[in-house]
Amino acid sequence: MLVLDVDGVLTDGSLYFGHDGETLKIFHVRDGLGIKLVQRAGIIVAVVSGRSSAALASRCRELDIAHVVQASSDKLAAVAHLARELKVDMQEIACVVDDTSDLPLLAAVGRAFAVRDAHPEVRRAAGHVTRLPGGRGAVREVCDWLVRHAARGGKP
Ligand SMILES: [Mg+2]
Repeated sequence: MLVLDVDGVLTDGSLYFGHDGETLKIFHVRDGLGIKLVQRAGIIVAVVSGRSSAALASRCRELDIAHVVQASSDKLAAVAHLARELKVDMQEIACVVDDTSDLPLLAAVGRAFAVRDAHPEVRRAAGHVTRLPGGRGAVREVCDWLVRHAARGGKP
């Protein structure tokens, strides 16, 4: 299973506010195709965000991401719950994260990726750091890696 954080991972971390609160999020088209490729390889994709927005819900609908947790105050608890529900071992989960609030999740999964522009503490703690920054193709990079890895029967 691939678990993606949203702000700073699927986006560059910018929050676009109008009169009615958060109005926009900008996603990268190549990350979207990467997610489709990962799904086609039989890997479950889940999205976990500390915030909540209609823009995220609509992007996830477009990408057929069934497992979306918004306004999560405890991402590790949310992912552990999902893993139990889907009968996925925590060691079989890869996550992509960017900030210190993601550190408990990062420590609990089998493979953690930090985006290039993640908080330094997160970059240090993660097993892998992407070449590209969040919202600019980092997720696609991880997706391509996972698809290659899955094609080799799980051997690194
Ligand atoms: Mg984040």
